[in-house]
Amino acid sequence: MLNGFVLPECAVCGRSVDELRWWDDWDRCQRILIARCHGQTEEVVLTDKTMVLYGSTMRFGKAFVAKALPSTLADLARESEGG
Ligand SMILES: [Zn+2]
Repeated sequence: MLNGFVLPECAVCGRSVDELRWWDDWDRCQRILIARCHGQTEEVVLTDKTMVLYGSTMRFGKAFVAKALPSTLADLARESEGG
């Protein structure tokens, strides 16, 4: 599964997250990613628009950054939804 898929780094632990699951919600044209680490989970929703705009260049930011630093992939997703 997920060959070549690099786990995002946990901003809290400073290492790769324990688990990353993702799936596509075709009804809503979204990709949902769930990172699990240090007993917590973080959900990131990428919209179709986000993937079109950033798909070829998008890289994972750190997971759980909201608990450590302000700028995250989640922020990117939220911003693109607003525009
Ligand atoms: Zn962690």
